Amino acid sequence: MARIVIVGGGIAGTAAALALHKAGHEPVVYEAHPQSGEDIGAFMTLASNGMLALAGFDAAEAVAGIGFDVTGLSLLDEGGSELAAMPLGEHGHPLTRYRCLRRAELGAVLQAEVARQGIPLHHAARLTSFTETADTVTAHFADGTSATGELLVGADGLHSAVRSHLSPTGPGPEYAGQQVFYGYSTATPPPVTAEGLITMVRGSRVAFGYLVSPADETFWFARVPGPPAEAAERAATTPAHSRDRLVPLLRPDATPCAEIVAGTGEELMVTNALHLPPGTRWRGRRTVLIGDAAHAASPATGQGASMALEDALVLAKALRDTPEIDTALARYEHHRRPRAEQNMAASARLTASRNSNNPAPQDSQQPPTRVDEDLRRLLDWDTPLPA
Ligand SMILES: Cc1cc2nc3c(=O)[nH]c(=O)nc-3n(C[C@H](O)[C@H](O)[C@H](O)COP(=O)(O)OP(=O)(O)OC[C@H]3O[C@@H](n4cnc5c(N)ncnc54)[C@H](O)[C@@H]3O)c2cc1C
Repeated sequence: MARIVIVGGGIAGTAAALALHKAGHEPVVYEAHPQSGEDIGAFMTLASNGMLALAGFDAAEAVAGIGFDVTGLSLLDEGGSELAAMPLGEHGHPLTRYRCLRRAELGAVLQAEVARQGIPLHHAARLTSFTETADTVTAHFADGTSATGELLVGADGLHSAVRSHLSPTGPGPEYAGQQVFYGYSTATPPPVTAEGLITMVRGSRVAFGYLVSPADETFWFARVPGPPAEAAERAATTPAHSRDRLVPLLRPDATPCAEIVAGTGEELMVTNALHLPPGTRWRGRRTVLIGDAAHAASPATGQGASMALEDALVLAKALRDTPEIDTALARYEHHRRPRAEQNMAASARLTASRNSNNPAPQDSQQPPTRVDEDLRRLLDWDTPLPA
């Protein structure tokens, strides 16, 4: 049993705590935020591969209790004509269906599971640096305290302090060329759609997506190419500004998107899409990165959270099945880096194709959403990690 210091109590950090606990280790989570994880209020879709990873450490049922199922996708053009319709993911079983949920809800459920299992989670603990020896690693926090373990897991997200300390000259997050708007509207639902359907609109100027929840609330996002919003502009942006900016971009199209945005009140937010370049260093002697800290992708593929959950499960299996920590970390990276970087590349291409209005990626460049037998074995708790 190893004492494992997890930095970051978001999706990756809480998932890693649950999976490492199940593997017989002793995780302790240190989260910078004083109350809960940081949250920008957006919603997300959790894909079938993410749900399978959750099942591996017995958290799928809790997560299936929040949000709602998404079982199919309809793609519309700017004239409102359907270009394609398809079922989504492993929709036969309630625990492996895509789910749409608010990011805050997912964080809260995972933190509650951590608490329920008696795993310590310390808030207001912001890592500033760490020191490694051959056998131990010590995390140092902004309040002057420290924590020592045999392994430090950096699950501290896109702007990871663990990553910066591991690779002081390594590249940081870059702007992906789009601002992303998120909103929730309880105005009259758009003329949709079968229950559980996500409608994606290839608009003339904006990529748009929307779903209607069982409570008739419309969840929507819009991805708008252009320069990033600087900090001062972001601070001054109100929901009304965002509506005024988006509606004229959507109006020319014969789709419900402009009406959905016009009917949205205060629950409207905007963020710059950021991503990391591939090739980031993931490991030190006693340190490893997971989730966005290692491989943040722009949101286009909707796979960031699912990738973080896969990381947590595979890291726990590697540490369960391999006695030496450095060999276990190498096995983790061997199994995770190609998939995570496939997602980064697919998301970057999807974003670039939208920005330039070029065709969408070909089949070989698709995000890693398909659950094949190899992935099923990788994410199955009872199957040993392949060599
Ligand atoms: C707008 C938007 C929409 C998205 N939509 C989707 C989607 O539909 N589907 C999907 O799968 N993914 C989506 N993602 C991506 C997904 O949110 C991320 O991939 C996921 O949250 C990564 O989890 P994480 O735990 O690695 O990082 P985070 O969720 O960012 O968690 C990191 C945690 O570390 C803490 N922390 C930071 N610094 C420190 C420090 N120095 N010390 C201690 N703690 C620290 C933070 O407070 C935070 O709680 C979206 C992302 C964004 C921004």
